[in-house]
Amino acid sequence: MIDTAASGKVSLAPLAETEEMNPRSQRARAERMSVTPLGGGLYEVESQSDNTYFVDLLGGRCTCPDHMMRGVRCKHLRRVAIEINEGRAPPPGKEAVECARCQSVIFVDEKTAAAGPHYCDHCELQPGEPVVDRATGDLLVVVGMTDHRADQVEVPGRDCTVATYPANEGYPADDPVVEVLYPIPSGLRPEQVEARHVRRYSFPRSRLQRPERPGDQSELTDFREAE
Ligand SMILES: [Zn+2]
Ligand SMILES: [Zn+2]
Repeated sequence: MIDTAASGKVSLAPLAETEEMNPRSQRARAERMSVTPLGGGLYEVESQSDNTYFVDLLGGRCTCPDHMMRGVRCKHLRRVAIEINEGRAPPPGKEAVECARCQSVIFVDEKTAAAGPHYCDHCELQPGEPVVDRATGDLLVVVGMTDHRADQVEVPGRDCTVATYPANEGYPADDPVVEVLYPIPSGLRPEQVEARHVRRYSFPRSRLQRPERPGDQSELTDFREAE
């Protein structure tokens, strides 16, 4: 589990609108607190006054006196809800993990969080998705992302791995391996089918990019794929 509160206690930027006029909501936002997800919808909140409280978000409960004595929706409950709404903390049932490729923090189902690797939407390629081989410009179709790194996968018939395969030098050795197919050209007669039309090939993720759409600059801002 990644502690999304690793940077310590912070206050959140105030809302521009006078949307939250409740004083507890204002304190929930302005006071310096840290929120640490514990799993199962439980969150540990370290308050500005250095007290530690436990928030059960789904049950709407907090261990602080304000909630215990007065039964109100305290600033800790509100703070946890705010951090979830703003993507700073995982919602109940989710856990924060790092994308295995770019290390950005993503939220995954807490039941499968330990069974990585996990990838963010940008890094993960979906089965059936068209991709372009950056080295040749060939159009390929994704079969699936594997759980293996380029330096763990042998290239059949060659004394090397996907990472040390000559055409793959320059891509990260710990890149996830993606299985792809060359699309079979339409109208191909049986005698024209070559091995490359039926074989799966293993590529390092960084050698593949999504086809550029007009006006789509997303690949240019990818720090690992930018040239
Ligand atoms: Zn509380
Ligand atoms: Zn990523």
